[in-house]
Amino acid sequence: MIFPKTQHYHASCLTQARNRLENRARVRSQKLGVNDKRVFEILLSEHRAFSAYEVADRVGKNSKRLQANQVYRAVETLIKLGVAHRVELKHGYMACHSTDNCTAHQILICKSCEQVAELEHSKLHAEIAKSVEEVGFVPEPQKLELLGICPNCSQKTHPNPTEEY
Ligand SMILES: [Zn+2]
Ligand SMILES: [Zn+2]
Ligand SMILES: [Zn+2]
Repeated sequence: MIFPKTQHYHASCLTQARNRLENRARVRSQKLGVNDKRVFEILLSEHRAFSAYEVADRVGKNSKRLQANQVYRAVETLIKLGVAHRVELKHGYMACHSTDNCTAHQILICKSCEQVAELEHSKLHAEIAKSVEEVGFVPEPQKLELLGICPNCSQKTHPNPTEEY
């Protein structure tokens, strides 16, 4: 998913992501614990990355606070199922809002509003693979994270009156 508008119907993001989690778990015979679901709900609440401690805190607002290791375990399950990703630059995790198999390992992070979005650009991956091969470097499965300013924020700073919202 690319950056959603600041005002968008987030309920449909939620429904879609929840269904995707249930389907994934069923297909892979992965039992989902109550913590897995709780953690996923926090990650889903906003299109941004959350640190493990932040997740633990937020879960604690509604019910018993989770220990950091319980958060890690839940996040691990979600990542394995492909419905969440690690965001290294934020030392945290994000929910995946792709509709099917997510092969996007290019994560865009807005420095201003903290929104995250995924980009799929296989050519970029091929180029990186080729370039590192030339210097004899063996990369890990590639994930690219880019910091920048999202379209919502750049419109705020450089409003374009001719553009329709
Ligand atoms: Zn949304
Ligand atoms: Zn994804
Ligand atoms: Zn932004």
